Amino acid sequence: MTRSEKLFEEAKKYIPGGVNSPVRAFGPIGGAPRFIAKASGACLWDVDGVQYTDYVGSWGPMLLGHSHPEILKRVTESCARGLSYGAVTEIETDMARLICEMVPSVELVRMVNSGTEAVMSAIRTARGYTGRDKIIKFRGCYHGHSDGLLVKAGSGALTQSLPDSAGVPAGCTQDTLLAVYNDTDSVREHFDHMGEQIAALIVEPVAANMGVVAPEPGFLETLRSLCTRYGTVLIFDEVITGFRLGPSGAQGVYEVTPDLTVFGKIIGAGMPVGAYGGRREIMEQVAPLGPVYQAGTLSGNPVAMAAGFTQLDILKRDPGIYIRLREAGEYFFGGLDRLLRKAGLPYTVNYTGSLGCLFFTDRRVTDDEGAKTSDTLAYAAYCNYMLSHGVYLAPSQFEAMFLSAAHTKEQLDETLQAAEAYFMKLKGQSPAHPV
Ligand SMILES: *Cc1c(COP(=O)(O)O)cnc(C)c1O
Repeated sequence: MTRSEKLFEEAKKYIPGGVNSPVRAFGPIGGAPRFIAKASGACLWDVDGVQYTDYVGSWGPMLLGHSHPEILKRVTESCARGLSYGAVTEIETDMARLICEMVPSVELVRMVNSGTEAVMSAIRTARGYTGRDKIIKFRGCYHGHSDGLLVKAGSGALTQSLPDSAGVPAGCTQDTLLAVYNDTDSVREHFDHMGEQIAALIVEPVAANMGVVAPEPGFLETLRSLCTRYGTVLIFDEVITGFRLGPSGAQGVYEVTPDLTVFGKIIGAGMPVGAYGGRREIMEQVAPLGPVYQAGTLSGNPVAMAAGFTQLDILKRDPGIYIRLREAGEYFFGGLDRLLRKAGLPYTVNYTGSLGCLFFTDRRVTDDEGAKTSDTLAYAAYCNYMLSHGVYLAPSQFEAMFLSAAHTKEQLDETLQAAEAYFMKLKGQSPAHPV
C-alpha cells in the first residue's frame, strides 16, 4: 500500500468520500487520489515522494506556477500583520482598482470567497436590477454548485429544467432555462418565447468544464445582441478564463463586452477568492448602496487579497506572459495533436491559449453532446499511464489541462514524449475501447 492509499483510507473515515471536492476522488479513473505534500513551479510531489509535472494547477489558479516567490513573500508579510479584521483595508481597494483597470467592462467589483458565491451573487444582482426571474444557462457549462444552476434538461418541453442534484427543490430550477453551447437557435427560442422575463444569460465565454470548447465565430456576439435587445444582463463566467486568456480575459480576446463578469480561481492565486463586477448602474444595486443583499465575513480577506493582488499585478506588469502562455499552448496542444495524427489515432484536441483538452472521440467537439461521445474508459487508461510516468492530469475526461508560465519547454517535451509512447502503444493494440 502506498502512503496515499493509507491516507485515503483514513480520510474516508471522517470526510465524505475522503475528499472536500468530488473530482479529487479520482472516481472517473479509479484508484486512490495522490495526496500532495508540496508544489513548486510546474511540479507537484506526493506523500510517497513521487514528482509530477502538474497540468491541473489547482484547477486554474496557479497561472504563474506553484510557490511563486513574490506571492509567497507578500502573503507571509500580510500574515504577520494578522489574518482577518472584519474591517476595511487598503489592499481591497488596490485589488478592486487593479481589476477595473485590467478589465474595462468592470466599473465596480465586489469580492467574495469562491466562484460559486460570485455567480450566485451576480445572478441575484441581475434579477434585482431587471426585476425579472428567469435565467439562461448552457448545458455543460459549470457555474458552481448553487441550487438554481444544478439543472439538467427535462423531457420535451423547451422550458422544463429539472434539478441535477438530490436536495435541490424543483422550485429552485424552474426559472433556469437551458440552451446548447454554440447553438444560437437554442438561445433565440427562449428569447422568442419569454425574452421580457429573462433577467440574465450566463455563459463561460470559453467553456472549460466539459473539456475545453471554444465559442464558434459569432456565438458570443449573438448572445450580446440578444441580451441587448431584450434588456437581459449578459454575464460572462470568467472564473477560468479571466486573467488566463489575456489581461482582460476572454472578453478581451473575443472583443465581446458583458454587463457583469464573474471571477474566481486566478484572482486568488490559490487562496479562496471570487469576485463579481461590471457596469456601475447594475453593481449599484448591491448592498449597502442598493436593495440586493450580499455579504461575507471573510470577503476581501487581507491575506487572500495579498495573494491575488500580487499575481494580478505581476500579470499587469508583464503582459508578455500571455504571449508566452499562448505559444506554450500552441506548442504543447498542437504537439499533442500531431502525435495523435502520427499514431493514426482519430482523437480530438481542443485548445484556446493555455487551456486545452484531449477528447477520446473522433468527433469535432463544439458542445456537451459532442464531448459526451468521448470514451471515458480510454481517457482513464491514458490518465493512469501518464500518472505513472510523472504527469499529473485531471482525473476526468471533462476537465481542462492548464498550462502555467512556470512550465518549461523541457517539461512540456517530457510530457509529449510520454504521450507519444502511449499513443504508439495504443496504435499497436487492437482497440480495447473502439471509437
Ligand atoms: C470552478 C468554477 C466555478 C466555481 O468556483 P468555486 O470556487 O469552485 O466555487 C464557477 N464557474 C466556473 C466556470 C468554474 O470553472
